[in-house]
Amino acid sequence: IWQKILEIVAQKVGESTFELWFSPVKLLDIKNSEAFIEVPNRFFKDWIEDNFPSIISDTFYQITGNQISVRYIITGKEHETVSTGEKKQGLKRGNLNPKYTFNTFVVGPSNQFAHAAALRVAENPGFAYNPLFIYGGVGLGKTHLITAIGNYILDKKPELNVCYMSSEQFTGEFVSAIRHEKMPEFRQKYRTLDVFLVDDIQFIAGKDSTQEEFFHTFNELYSKQKQIVISSDRPPMEISDITDRLRSRFGMGLIADIQPPEIETRLAILYKKAELEGVQLPEDVAYFIASRVKSNVRELEGSLIKLCAYISITKTPITMDLAKHVLKDLLPDENKPITIDLIQKAVCEALGIRVHDVKSKKRTKEIANARKIAMYITKKLTNLSLAEIGNAFGGKDHATVIYACKQIEKDKEKDEALAKLIDSIIRKLQENK
Ligand code: ADP
Ligand code: MG
Repeated sequence: IWQKILEIVAQKVGESTFELWFSPVKLLDIKNSEAFIEVPNRFFKDWIEDNFPSIISDTFYQITGNQISVRYIITGKEHETVSTGEKKQGLKRGNLNPKYTFNTFVVGPSNQFAHAAALRVAENPGFAYNPLFIYGGVGLGKTHLITAIGNYILDKKPELNVCYMSSEQFTGEFVSAIRHEKMPEFRQKYRTLDVFLVDDIQFIAGKDSTQEEFFHTFNELYSKQKQIVISSDRPPMEISDITDRLRSRFGMGLIADIQPPEIETRLAILYKKAELEGVQLPEDVAYFIASRVKSNVRELEGSLIKLCAYISITKTPITMDLAKHVLKDLLPDENKPITIDLIQKAVCEALGIRVHDVKSKKRTKEIANARKIAMYITKKLTNLSLAEIGNAFGGKDHATVIYACKQIEKDKEKDEALAKLIDSIIRKLQENK
């Protein structure tokens, strides 16, 4: 059965990815609908979890019709098993990722203002800037920075009640509190915090009653001089579909932005990560990566992790030739096609929506709209069939795709802003594929 699973996984991820990441992976045992999967080291576990979080359980389901959860076991460390679900809780203090601290954050011109503001808030919660609002593009360190505030505060004052969550989690808990008639408990929990770190607030857009609840939580904490820190992918003024009173609250303290890092900062981040991983990163390789991955620290890191995983198996040092081989996708390639993944990513980034929502069957206004735009662009820029396009967007049929394309075509004529947005996404896709 494992052989079969691997064959399907190979088809799903492509040969070269499969060779590097899945060929060393073994199935040890299946017990009580839990599969024990052996991986060579934690690079593999992290990478598979980040990039293909459910591929093994999905494929298993596809073949056998049984739901399983996956537990990774690192070779030679049978005792340190971590299952996918448990990982997030348990180990973390107040939901904070312990890896994200000020010590591991590299400061450069692009982020020094946000960093300095975050540090002041951490030293003096409630009294420096309240709220602190940090915004910046995807993968530039917002989550890292606001988590660092929480970790710092808990180091100095463990008695404080610190809570980190994304605005989506807040929405989820709020909805569930209403459904189970637990609103008093919900309010008690959030209105008695000392430090409230809210990540990705843009996802609260369009959710009126959550905004209302968040507004009251905000006011209550603010009036008691409790610290509020908010992150977003855009400044308050540009978050559409939130109430004006909430938007103005966001601007009451300090607003700090994070810009994409300059080449020097990108190099410094690479060296720092290499040091943390205990690997020797030659200068030319660092430069090779830093000069190609420009606008996203997560991808910068991802390239390094890929190298680390590779050398952890081959036991060779990192060299330029090796880097070019392992990081082929960083090399310029004129013929590199624009894929549906790239399009979905670009559209979602522009609209502040999650990629997995666009691929799902969800039908809220924003998601449905993003999906239509992405379908339209996919039709325009790729040779995929209508059925293939529909399939990539939560299994829609070809009629839905045709309808979406026609509608966007029509809307574009009436709505200049929409036309501009679509053009800019297309241009971006064509420029930096
Ligand atoms: P965002 O929340 O803005 O999308 P994250 O905070 O998740 O971005 O950062 C993405 C990855 O990049 C994380 O692993 C983070 O540790 C790393 N990172 C981002 N900025 C820095 C930095 N200045 N120094 C060190 N690591 C960074
Ligand atoms: Mg984040």
